[in-house]
Amino acid sequence: MMAQYLALKAEAEDCLLFYRMGDFFELFFDDARIASGVLDIALTSRGEHDGEKIPMCGVPVHAATAYLQRLIKAGHRVAIAEQTETPAEAKARGGYKALVSRGIVRVVTAGTLTEEALLDARSDNWCVAIGEAAGAVALAAADVSTGRFEVIDCSIDALGAELARLGAAEVVASEASDQAAAATTLRPKQTFDSGSGETRLKTLFGVATLDGFGQFSRAGLAAAGGLIAYLEHTAKGALPFLRPPRLSQAAETMAIDAATRDSLELTCTTGGQRKGSLLDCIDRTVTGAGARLLASDLGAPLMDRAAIDARLDLVQHFHDATGQREQVRAALRALPDIGRALGRLAAGRGSPRDLGQLRDGLDGAWHLGERLAQIDAPLALLDRVAPRLRGHGALIDLLKRALVPSPPIEASDGGYIAAGYDVALDELRDTGAGGRRAIAALEAEMKAATGIATLKIRHNNVLGYHVEVPARSADPLMKPDSGFTHRQTLAGVVRFNTPALHEVAARVSQAGAHALAAEAAHLEELTAAALAHREAIAATADALARIDVAAALAERAAEGQWARPALADHPCFDVVGGRHPVVEAAVAKSGDRFVANDCTLTPDSRLWLVTGPNMGGKSTFLRQNALIAVLAQTGSYVPATKATLGMVDRLFSRVGASDNLARGRSTFMVEMVETAAILAQATPNSFVILDEVGRGTSTYDGLAIAWAVVEAIHEDNRCRCLFATHYHELTRLAERCEALTLHHVRAREWKGELVLLHELSTGPADRSYGLAVARLAGMPPATVARAKAVLAKLEAGRAKTGGLAAGLDDLPLFAAAQVAEEETCDAIRAEVESLDVDALTPREALDTLYRLKALA
Ligand code: ADP
Repeated sequence: MMAQYLALKAEAEDCLLFYRMGDFFELFFDDARIASGVLDIALTSRGEHDGEKIPMCGVPVHAATAYLQRLIKAGHRVAIAEQTETPAEAKARGGYKALVSRGIVRVVTAGTLTEEALLDARSDNWCVAIGEAAGAVALAAADVSTGRFEVIDCSIDALGAELARLGAAEVVASEASDQAAAATTLRPKQTFDSGSGETRLKTLFGVATLDGFGQFSRAGLAAAGGLIAYLEHTAKGALPFLRPPRLSQAAETMAIDAATRDSLELTCTTGGQRKGSLLDCIDRTVTGAGARLLASDLGAPLMDRAAIDARLDLVQHFHDATGQREQVRAALRALPDIGRALGRLAAGRGSPRDLGQLRDGLDGAWHLGERLAQIDAPLALLDRVAPRLRGHGALIDLLKRALVPSPPIEASDGGYIAAGYDVALDELRDTGAGGRRAIAALEAEMKAATGIATLKIRHNNVLGYHVEVPARSADPLMKPDSGFTHRQTLAGVVRFNTPALHEVAARVSQAGAHALAAEAAHLEELTAAALAHREAIAATADALARIDVAAALAERAAEGQWARPALADHPCFDVVGGRHPVVEAAVAKSGDRFVANDCTLTPDSRLWLVTGPNMGGKSTFLRQNALIAVLAQTGSYVPATKATLGMVDRLFSRVGASDNLARGRSTFMVEMVETAAILAQATPNSFVILDEVGRGTSTYDGLAIAWAVVEAIHEDNRCRCLFATHYHELTRLAERCEALTLHHVRAREWKGELVLLHELSTGPADRSYGLAVARLAGMPPATVARAKAVLAKLEAGRAKTGGLAAGLDDLPLFAAAQVAEEETCDAIRAEVESLDVDALTPREALDTLYRLKALA
């Protein structure tokens, strides 16, 4: 057995091996140590290997799903080795001592799950492969629980943002890849070859050419091929259920890198929770598929105005037609998740209940489609999705006739095929039922004949049907002429058989076995019938999700009195009465009112410098505007009274280091790396918010960096930008940067108390109120008084010397500084180019070096 185990373990590579033994999955050696730790189950031992005890632990097969879930969550992958023959077959094959043969039937990994219990109903579960070819990169992403399949061409720069958008459960790359991060699953290089990728795609979809899908790049083929090969590997050769790929470019959506997603808390908070995120705050969807689509929409705001407007038109329709919205949402709420049911059926892990879900879901979709067909407003999106709701009439009829109203998850006990669907099955059931009635009659007869009132006919898996009497009444039946044959004596009872019982029992169990087999055959047929339409069923599932999202966004907009944004092609940004939906909800909970603020960025005021006291609302203001841009391009209403927005190609948000201490890296380094990325990537169509950048270092360094960053954004990137800072000195930049304007959050001291108004006003803040905030925070009065004295000294010093920013006014302008720098470089280059190195004497060489040094 150990030899068999070790061979399977070698095949399982770095996965934990679940080795099936009877009713348990057993783990051995290091696997056992790891699993017992993660699962908190007992570590025992069994036998010896190389003279050492073999560590072992096990989980019962019937509860394996829950244990699998915990192992997957903890980042492990699990290979399942099942018995591939019965002990009887093994005996027939190899005699009494033959070992049951086993094989790995599946590798369970985070990215390849289909089980309802292992998945979050409201999130996509992407497995993503990175492909590279000819210096380009592409991603292939599959959600095997629904069959969604995307291939995305992207630049190396955009790779991180795309991976962040997908939020992959698992990332796969070639072992030769440069792009693989720590948690990546590495696979053999040859599975990522673009040529074999093309072959794999053709085989999977049964086509002779891929042209029907669009134009694949070589990197795209490599990614798709690597992904399909991996999915086949985890399913042990079975082809994965994938719908035809959707090809796209990363540039078709707003680029939002991982740091920005993090800091804006779009789909989860910095703590990794969905609760408290923007998604959580706006999600009013009523189906799992709708929730998944909303999350994916919000992660990938569109760049195509027509597509955004089509979404907004539908949201507006549901927004205005309140009654209809409620009806549609009520209808959707009752529907099962047909996308995931289909995914399980296609993966060969379907159950009768999944077919029942398809029946109910498709039937509900049909009725919803009828209702929506009555809308006669010009809605391009509805025209596109509504027809997909009505189809499948024949399949619905078939399933309605074939299945009982609520079919069970387990097929093994039968009972899911409806009466009247199959005459032969009905007869078998009648025989079975008749037999069970005959057994009851037999029991009564035997009681009367023997006079034993406690006599019972029972059934178990070992003896089948048998007669059971208490031990004290058993004697008369033990007599040879009693007609009873002794089978078993236990502590309190004795068990018998009789010829009559044997005869009826054989009939019952045979009819039962035949009925089960007949049901299983129907299950297979019905599954095949459903899978024959899987593409169309998946399209129906998508259509339902799209309608759910539109109605849900309408619901949220109505609830929060949001406005439909107008989108423009030039880089404007005009928000009237903007609010931060998450902070607003929090503020409302504590009984306060959220103060709405305007934000108007124009060509001559595209960079706003926001100052004001801590806790004054600067961060909130910055973020609410970034969120409004995301929501608008997602096709949602926005939390404002009015908004006109120019399309944003890239969105950046950075927060000064000290807010992010939890990350554990050198936080100032992180802050600078992230800021550098903005300066390298932001275009005039981008939107950038920078919150206290430069704060993670000493005052002088920080001020200098903040100053230079503002100048660079103003002069070079020329994007729309909101910059919050507590460096009051930066306000001097307003004099030299023509498109920079000054703003502050208002505060007032009233009877010695600080009142934060959270209201934005133009001009610089008149003072920083740091001490007032300290007092507000409960700092002891003596300490505040001492700080006051120190501040007075510092301010006196500042007045005398001109303070921290003394001399800054003499600094050449950013552009002028760049020109001077370039001129120096040119002069040095000219000098170097004119040198004839071989002709120089050592003396001349030294002189030249001195001259170059002087130039620099
Ligand atoms: P800052 O960045 O200036 O330190 P924050 O934006 O973090 O301030 O805001 C601090 C707190 O003030 C928030 O958690 C919220 O409770 C409250 N707040 C911020 N903006 C508003 C607003 N517009 N209306 C009401 N309360 C607000």
